[in-house]
Amino acid sequence: MPGKNLSRDEAQKRAGLIEVESYRVHLDLSSAPDPGAATFRSTTTIAFDAAEPGASSFADLLAPAVRSVTLNGRELDPAKVFDGHRVALDGLAGHNLLVVEADCAYSRTGEGLHRFVDPVDGETYLYTHFEPADARRVFANFEQPDLKAPFTFTVTAAAAWDVYANAVHESVQSEGDARTWRFAPTRPISTYLTAVVAGPYHVVRDHYSRELPDGSTLEIPLAATCRKSLAGFFDADEILTVTKQGLDFFHEEFDYPYPFGKYDQCFVPEYNIGAMENPGCVTFREEFVFRSKVTEAAYEGRANVVLHEMAHMWFGDLVTMKWWDDLWLKESFADFMGSYGLIGAGTRYRSAWITFANRRKAWAYQQDQYPTTHPITADIRDLEDAKLNFDGITYAKGAAVLKQLVAYVGRDAFFEGARRYFRRHTFGNTVLTDLLAALEETSGRDLKAWTAAWLQTSGVNSLTPQVVCDADGRITELAVLQDGDTLRPHRVTVGLYDHDEAGALVRTGRIELDVAGARTSVPEASGRPRPALVLVNDEDLTYCKIRFDEVSLTTLRTALGSLTDPLARALAWSAAWNLTRDALMPARDYLDLVLRFAGQESDIGVLQSLHQQAKSALDLYAAPDWRAEGGRLLAECALRELRAAEPGSDHQLSWARFLASTADGAEHLQLLAGLLGGTGRIDGLAVDQELRWEFWLTLAAAGRATPEEIGTELERDNTASGRQRAVKCLAALPTPGAKAAAWSAVVDSDELPNALVEAQIAGFAQPNQRELTAGYTAPYFELLESVWEQRSIEIAMRIVGGFFPRLQTEQQTLDATDAWLDGHPGAAPALRRLVLECRDNLARALRAQHCDRG
Ligand SMILES: [Zn+2]
Repeated sequence: MPGKNLSRDEAQKRAGLIEVESYRVHLDLSSAPDPGAATFRSTTTIAFDAAEPGASSFADLLAPAVRSVTLNGRELDPAKVFDGHRVALDGLAGHNLLVVEADCAYSRTGEGLHRFVDPVDGETYLYTHFEPADARRVFANFEQPDLKAPFTFTVTAAAAWDVYANAVHESVQSEGDARTWRFAPTRPISTYLTAVVAGPYHVVRDHYSRELPDGSTLEIPLAATCRKSLAGFFDADEILTVTKQGLDFFHEEFDYPYPFGKYDQCFVPEYNIGAMENPGCVTFREEFVFRSKVTEAAYEGRANVVLHEMAHMWFGDLVTMKWWDDLWLKESFADFMGSYGLIGAGTRYRSAWITFANRRKAWAYQQDQYPTTHPITADIRDLEDAKLNFDGITYAKGAAVLKQLVAYVGRDAFFEGARRYFRRHTFGNTVLTDLLAALEETSGRDLKAWTAAWLQTSGVNSLTPQVVCDADGRITELAVLQDGDTLRPHRVTVGLYDHDEAGALVRTGRIELDVAGARTSVPEASGRPRPALVLVNDEDLTYCKIRFDEVSLTTLRTALGSLTDPLARALAWSAAWNLTRDALMPARDYLDLVLRFAGQESDIGVLQSLHQQAKSALDLYAAPDWRAEGGRLLAECALRELRAAEPGSDHQLSWARFLASTADGAEHLQLLAGLLGGTGRIDGLAVDQELRWEFWLTLAAAGRATPEEIGTELERDNTASGRQRAVKCLAALPTPGAKAAAWSAVVDSDELPNALVEAQIAGFAQPNQRELTAGYTAPYFELLESVWEQRSIEIAMRIVGGFFPRLQTEQQTLDATDAWLDGHPGAAPALRRLVLECRDNLARALRAQHCDRG
């Protein structure tokens, strides 16, 4: 087994041997403000039982140095028992006490204990991120989710700092320039859920209380933190409002008091993911602290994440999957609860299910059509597999399937099942059958067939209406046809739509039914007049690709914007996008829909995804010889809509960003330059800092900005975010030198932190610079294996996915990819999976271009 990896077999064996009683962890972080200090002192004391005295096992630890290892009072020689990844433990007793004293490294990749220095004020900030297995970068432990134990943290840090961890602190003691924070023991939790956040964070405190059914009162102290230099942008009130709404809602639904005492939400810099559900100490990416105007869709997205993480306090933290195969047990639920909670908790975000249908499920459809797709319940052999499975299946498809399950067993049975599951497995670990048992009891239904069809197979079905009419235009038979490798039971609503007198496309019939097998007849439709549009998954109850009959497709081509129901419209847009991706609708036809109807789209989240998808359609799916023409049409449309939008509105901002992403011609570039320089103006459009950077990026990629100008903009915004944006702009400049510098900064050194790796990669590949980056295809394939071996998995994943030549949409790129895959059958499976997915995107683009050529 490779050193850093841990296999499921090893974890199972260890769980069979060991039971952990407690952890005591002391971290001395007082060296953190000194940039020369690469490590911190970590001391772990683990009390644990072994089922077979005399047996051997190991603890996990990724550390540059181990000072001492003591097992049951025996000093072990670190040089003999520590190999850089594991501490070998031989001759275990029935009850054991292990003490490991190590020097652990501050991280710059967001894995383990990340250290960040704020360019604004020079302050240092720390936070941990451990999922799936990086607690071992900070302290010695048994790094697997099913060895839960109470953790007691003690943290020494600079006197001016605050420290947050999973539990409340019991005391703070000053010693010279430092203070030592002693935290209360946690409830039994998994290693990946432990957390420490330390630094001079700005904090806003609040409080939640609730009367419980037994008459007692539950008190939850709340805190929200961010860096000091972001305090002026921090709308903690809005975050805490959603937090309280969520706490009300989940207490109602789950009927189990929040089990982790206090609830801190820390917004932290250079965070790799959206957020992490550490019990009592949730961490979020600080881009959720909005420095410039954002649309309501961004606020909705953040509120969704707040509720997603909160749902995890029960699904994931209180009850945790045994191993990463059942990651969906927590992620699918939390993803579902994010949207469900936005509506149910009475937040102001009412379009949560529209966003889910249109954006979240697009991620699932994409992932589920890769050759690497997998069942929702996955086969996770080891930690590298686990790392890649935080994907569109585990989150979005799982959530969509739970939405279908709610439609299938009913809401009450679903939530009653969840309540039983929490009570039965409190602070325990579970597998699929544990949840099913609870749901079968409460629904009275046998869920084996449903589970086999939905959770244990992969792939997405297409549902297509088949409409047969008589000479009078009345339906004689309506049927729903199902395609796909595995045919599934679908609870669906079929919507029938017609034009009303004013021309709006409105629903005139609604039929709810169970679809099963390849063809399901809908007898209720017979005798009705033939509708203009049949929508087979109206209300978005099931997970499928929606297809259309010829008449319905013609209706959409001429009148998609006339669909008045925003969810139905979002579904129609999503279906059109899937047709385009599947090379069944030419990209220019999809773009024609956008050109004609996007201006009427009222839902801001849907509009923003249309903008992204239109840009992808142009860059990847349109025939190359039509690209310039298509780009010009999109940019003209963007400018027209930008000028027509209500001044100061979200729609105006979204169209301004779209103009920036499509502007290529001199006139449009000049307009952006004018808006930046103050010589141009669009009524109501605030060209604030984030928008300025978007304009600079466009100008840089088009060769209309100099490094000096980018430097001047950075002086104006010398912040962490400004630095990332400037790096991206420099990497986007259309010169061989800029490309070589970006490539080298990422590939030839591991000095760059995660955020700047991402910025370099994002700037490097620009759609209008295909020739400039074509020469990097061969070097890319040459470096894959060494990158995978030498870099941390987080950074390696970014390089492999980010530098793949996705814009070189030519057969020879596909051939080069196949040559690498054929020549490297023994490469790490997780690396092959990433390359296979990139290859599939490329092959899809080639098929779509072929379709677009006609
Ligand atoms: Zn989650």
